Amino acid sequence: MSLIVQKFGGSSVANAERVMNVASIITDTYRQGNDVVVVVSAQGDTTDDLIEKAYEINDKPSKREMDMLLTSGEQISIALLAMAIEKLGCPVISLLGWQAGFNTSSAYGQARIKTIKTDRLKAELDHHNIVVVAGFQGINKYDDLTTLGRGGSDTSAVAIAAALHADRCQIFTDVEGVFTADPRKVENAIKLQEITYDEMLELATLGAQVLNNRSVEMAKKYNVEVEVLSSLKRVPGTIVKEVAKMEKMLVRGVTKDTDVARISVTNISNTPGIAFKLFSKLAQKKINVDIILQSIGRDGKKDITFTVSKDNADTAIDAIKNTFDIEDKDIVCDTNVAKISVVGAGMESHPGTASKMFEALFENDINIDMISTSEIKISVLIEAKDADRAVSAVHRAFFQD
Ligand code: ADP
Ligand code: ASP
Ligand code: MG
Repeated sequence: MSLIVQKFGGSSVANAERVMNVASIITDTYRQGNDVVVVVSAQGDTTDDLIEKAYEINDKPSKREMDMLLTSGEQISIALLAMAIEKLGCPVISLLGWQAGFNTSSAYGQARIKTIKTDRLKAELDHHNIVVVAGFQGINKYDDLTTLGRGGSDTSAVAIAAALHADRCQIFTDVEGVFTADPRKVENAIKLQEITYDEMLELATLGAQVLNNRSVEMAKKYNVEVEVLSSLKRVPGTIVKEVAKMEKMLVRGVTKDTDVARISVTNISNTPGIAFKLFSKLAQKKINVDIILQSIGRDGKKDITFTVSKDNADTAIDAIKNTFDIEDKDIVCDTNVAKISVVGAGMESHPGTASKMFEALFENDINIDMISTSEIKISVLIEAKDADRAVSAVHRAFFQD
């Protein structure tokens, strides 16, 4: 007998028919003699719809009330899924995040899981119940409900698998696994059999939403093997693990991220300590800076350009204005940009990955604005309007030519 954690995303439980389909996957697993803990997201677009409702009333709602609202989406889906499992004749109980023992930090909207008190989960499993847990949520030290950030149910599932030392952690979604590019956007994207935690973490961070990046971080930390697979088609998915088969691939995937703002600060003094001052100010505001470019100094002046996520752009600009005595015309923010990346452990030992990527962009007349690299990824910043074309061109270069 094994303990299996199964997570189902919003599209997998979008309507009654899908809920019944998921219930049959769960009850099949249970009837094969396994203990089953299920983590479920809000149905379909429920979370987006709730956010829209909030903004109809208040364009600056407090994060606490936002979490109070958003956690309700998952409350609906656990109850409905439990009812579907009851109908199929298996013992089941649904639990909200706090009932399942999820203690989080206080940061509403982006809380981190601190501990999972597993007593209740274990007691329900001892009673041979299938346990259906609301993903994406927990409770903080003030006894308030919190959410883990968009896509956070993946993290809830991996955290439960780690806390209960589960034998398997399966993330069911609306595609058959992790592909070399978003299979909904890129023709001929290839399903990967396996991928390493490090590669998956880069893909997730750089825009492949199929897994939430914090869930991959957690899987790596606690060495939880994760299978990503389809809830609609019963075929093997992709295994995310420490060491993965290379499948003769130089790169594992191509991603697009449009949640990027490029901020340029021009005509700042070319003296020591300027970059330190600027980026420490952003760090104090907890703003993550991604690609950084600094021009060569001229006439005692220089320019610094960097990228942040779109929702951090205004805070970043305010912080810069407060740090330096500069005119408005010397700060330019552009949100019509996209970051295209290739990721793969194979590129470490194969020179020429960057030139292949740049050639594909050049051949399609796409201009590169900024470049950043690490051992296992290359990212370029381009105009947003070219993003989909760029992903297809780069994907073709690595996987078809
Ligand atoms: P869920 O609701 O199950 O959490 P998500 O919408 O969060 O599902 O993630 C699944 C989606 O991720 C897919 O429908 C697909 O369009 C998208 N996606 C983006 N990049 C990739 C990729 N490299 N491999 C697989 N899916 C991807
Ligand atoms: N329902 C939440 C969201 O839409 C959590 C999740 O789907 O994982 O972000
Ligand atoms: Mg998701």
